[in-house]
Amino acid sequence: FKINMDEIEVEGELGKGNYGSVHKVFHRPTGVMMAMKEIRLELDESKLNGIIMELDILHRAKAPEIVEFFGAFTIESCVYYCMEYMDAGSLDTLTGGGVLAKDLKEEDAENPELRVPEPVLRRITAAVVRGLGFLKDELQIMHRDVKPTNVLINKKGEIKLCDFGVSGQLEKSLAKTNIGCQSYMAPERIKSETVNQNPTYTVSSDVWSVGLSIVELAKGCYPYPPETFANVFAQLTAIVNGAAPTLPKGYSDDANDFVAKCLQKDPNRRPTYGELLQHPFLVADIDAEVDMVGWVAAALERRAERGISSLNPIQAG
Ligand code: ADP
Repeated sequence: FKINMDEIEVEGELGKGNYGSVHKVFHRPTGVMMAMKEIRLELDESKLNGIIMELDILHRAKAPEIVEFFGAFTIESCVYYCMEYMDAGSLDTLTGGGVLAKDLKEEDAENPELRVPEPVLRRITAAVVRGLGFLKDELQIMHRDVKPTNVLINKKGEIKLCDFGVSGQLEKSLAKTNIGCQSYMAPERIKSETVNQNPTYTVSSDVWSVGLSIVELAKGCYPYPPETFANVFAQLTAIVNGAAPTLPKGYSDDANDFVAKCLQKDPNRRPTYGELLQHPFLVADIDAEVDMVGWVAAALERRAERGISSLNPIQAG
């Protein structure tokens, strides 16, 4: 089915991203609650229509680990993108005891109560790796923007990826403004994007971002030091030349080995998704009983206690 604005009732704002806002909306014809992302682009109509056509491939991106795509349309210079509504939001707002990553103190990172329990971390990682493997094998695309904000979760405990790069035109239009203060880019990608006009990197760059995201979830904060937040150059230098981040104390040898393998500086040495799924860290997840529903409920409660709205508190930038 095709979606258009006349059929939509806006329920409230879920969050603001770098390029526009995300609203919770009700789609009347189907009775489905959706998340609608508005992306403001200064492009002419033919380019906007090109993006809508490129997004069509998303109708094939149906997997348990991928946020479902319902449709997209344009109004004036905006692209509206309708997807499955994930009622617990993005992972970054659930970890660190609900403290925003930027406010989390170093000592909090060592507080076991704020830590994501290893079975939960394993389950999240397994979902992310399976989702990325699906995108690569079934759609021949890499994600390009793996980070905790782009991993969504719901109260059923389902973990799904969103915001992957399917539209070349959209990527191109967004890239100009995409200078984040916290980079999840692999060292070789940073080098390639800063030096070459025509960046070359492969799917193994996403594996780096998986490793960095796991460390962030475990610590509850972005793994590179806060001094580097305000200085893009310092941060990129730390990623390229500094030691790779590691998990905080308390995680198993398997977990540490998994992260170390993802965060190797040489992209050729990083495991493939198939290899990651065979790693003991993820093999242990296969038959494990993990109370994701309970973990999400407790994390939402902590987030509410901290006075952060149950909707998304993260501001862009
Ligand atoms: P960014 O540009 O920082 O990646 P987005 O624009 O993708 O952010 O999203 C902003 C916020 O909106 C997210 O952090 C998330 O909490 C919320 N959000 C995005 N998509 C959904 C969804 N499908 N369901 C629920 N919340 C969502």
